[in-house]
Amino acid sequence: MEISKIKELDEKINSFIVFDDDGVAKSAKTGKLAGLTIAIKSNICVNGLKATCASKTLENYVAPYDASVVEKIKREGAHIVGMTNMDEFACGSSGESSYFGATDNPSAPGHIPGGSSSGSAAAVAAGFADVAIGTDTGGSIRNPASHCGVVGFKPTYGVVSRYGLIDLAMSLDQIGSFGKDVRTAVKLLDVIAGHDPKDATSLKLDPSFYNFSKNLSCDMDGIRVGYAKEFDELIVDCGIKKLIHESMDKLSGAGAQIVDVNLPRLKIALPTYYLNVYVEFFSATRKYDGLRFGHKIEDACGEEVLRRIMLGSYISEKEHSGKYYKKALMARSVIRRELEGALKNVDVLVGPTVPKLPHKLGQRITDPRVMYAYDVFTVTANLAGTPAGVVPAGKVDGIPTGLQVMGNVLDDQKVLNVMAGFEGCR
Ligand code: GLN
Repeated sequence: MEISKIKELDEKINSFIVFDDDGVAKSAKTGKLAGLTIAIKSNICVNGLKATCASKTLENYVAPYDASVVEKIKREGAHIVGMTNMDEFACGSSGESSYFGATDNPSAPGHIPGGSSSGSAAAVAAGFADVAIGTDTGGSIRNPASHCGVVGFKPTYGVVSRYGLIDLAMSLDQIGSFGKDVRTAVKLLDVIAGHDPKDATSLKLDPSFYNFSKNLSCDMDGIRVGYAKEFDELIVDCGIKKLIHESMDKLSGAGAQIVDVNLPRLKIALPTYYLNVYVEFFSATRKYDGLRFGHKIEDACGEEVLRRIMLGSYISEKEHSGKYYKKALMARSVIRRELEGALKNVDVLVGPTVPKLPHKLGQRITDPRVMYAYDVFTVTANLAGTPAGVVPAGKVDGIPTGLQVMGNVLDDQKVLNVMAGFEGCR
């Protein structure tokens, strides 16, 4: 689509904060992504473009270098359209906390597109970009992928470099890809994955690990798929429950074997996640003191960001007594072990992405716990550092709903294969 056309249509959707009108981001003419357009989330550095994190704090911050993923994208020839809208500093599940205004859901107009990678998912859903980069700390790729009806994938922690990502909570953050279908999202993943000496947490794996497209297989025969009964207990919307069960039937029709598993501690994943995020985010934001980067964050940010800073500061202060954070770290290990246990006898877990349908734009949510509730099924993969992806499963009340596939650490290929297998039998 021509940039002028995208700009015109995006006036209603607001999926971009910045368009690269002047062609500041120059990409190679050839490469694995040649011919594809790409949208980049506004918390990732593209040399010469604004990386605002959708916050007034960084409203004038122009990135002085390329993130490692951006370097690779440029080298492989994808054309960068611009920087996408998002929840402020990636704190949110709806896209509404952006300083630049909310994003509409192109697949369910008038509803939130999900967040925090709201603009990236919406841009792909609207056809403004073939692929997009998002980040996922607790579900920010998977949640908007589900609401917008596109494919989103969060790799194993360390498979994609975080160098040049403006962090929310560095032990949970992971960059990943969006596409209209599994194959396109995987094409981007092939390019952005890989060891990066600039990121100390980047994994160094055998080169064959990174051949996701080449190794993609839709064959579901004999694949063992786990389903936790706790999913059913936590799904709020009956329509979603029905669709997820129909999806399991389709998988089994395609040859997969459905196995019951247990995740009894799924309920504590949400508080564990938020305690970890508060503390890490508080620490990450200390650099926004108004001297080096933009405005002082506490003077410029919105409600949710301020809440997290204040709670993170409080918890960190109290930490000498080991009251909260230490407990949250212990809970995190318990959750990780539980997920590993559930995955012992199966290839992947499959289940819902979100417990409820996206709310209407403008419907003000005052209790943060209501917003946090969207993340109940997604945070576990971040706490455990495991791969997870979402593939459209159908519609509930006319609104797209995605199926989530979760795997063990480094089982990214298995997750992608089940996503592709399900897409094929949809
Ligand atoms: N909704 C979650 C949060 O607000 C996840 C955000 C994310 O993954 N960036 O923290």
